[in-house]
Amino acid sequence: MLNKWEGIVLKTKAYGETNKVVTIMTREVGKTAAMARGAKKPQSRLAAISQPFVHGIFMIQQGRGMGTLQQGEPLESMRHIQEDITATAYASYVVEIIDRLIESDRPEPYAFDIMVQALHAIEEGYDPESIAMFVEWKMLPYTGVQPVLHACASCGAVEGEFAFSFSQGGFLCHRCFLLDPYLIRLTPTQVKLIRMFYTVPIDQIGKLTLKKETKQFIRKIVTTIYEEQTGMRFKSRSFIEQLERTPLLFNKHMDSEKPDEGQPDKALQTDENNE
Ligand SMILES: [Zn+2]
Repeated sequence: MLNKWEGIVLKTKAYGETNKVVTIMTREVGKTAAMARGAKKPQSRLAAISQPFVHGIFMIQQGRGMGTLQQGEPLESMRHIQEDITATAYASYVVEIIDRLIESDRPEPYAFDIMVQALHAIEEGYDPESIAMFVEWKMLPYTGVQPVLHACASCGAVEGEFAFSFSQGGFLCHRCFLLDPYLIRLTPTQVKLIRMFYTVPIDQIGKLTLKKETKQFIRKIVTTIYEEQTGMRFKSRSFIEQLERTPLLFNKHMDSEKPDEGQPDKALQTDENNE
């Protein structure tokens, strides 16, 4: 039967001389792979639609085994993501997180929305490093790690000073600091930011103007959770690290310390410089 699904291409792999196997994260059925016959030929009608990051409507013929991509209609070309090296790097990372954490052929509308919102935000020129961090925090439950961030992980207190504790699985209040000699002390702003990354939908965030050090600090925590607690390392991280070591390749998004002009009308504005 022929299905019509909305999706985003996560990755493609050459198959034979002219074909591609396209992995698509769909809204309706989750992650699925389809054969795109002839898609490697530039004149193929499948050539444009079977590229990473393309957001479109895909017609997939499902039979026994792998489906066949019959045709597709792009909803968005994701031109900025395709052309800007920093945007490409972070979008690749977002897509790799989704690909690695999501099982095939099972609807995952929450993860689909996170990915679509993240890629749209990167495409629209939002700071891609912050957007990737939203995805890292929000996808943690898919690794089996559900950090307690709304209150102290030990006593449940919501008032007080907080620190992050890997061993206690989330925030600890100052009354419970003795439980973990390796805890990481947090400022109220850092507590607020981590909660925001974990709970606030990406499309409800206005322009984020975070200092480079703030991003590095919060990223270190989430990266440590992935690497130490889930054992996951992402290939596209190494490309990002390479970009960071090569400042000449930086573009304006890499150090967005100056607040941007023209704040969009969004539900939440977060600007740590205003606190
Ligand atoms: Zn406590």
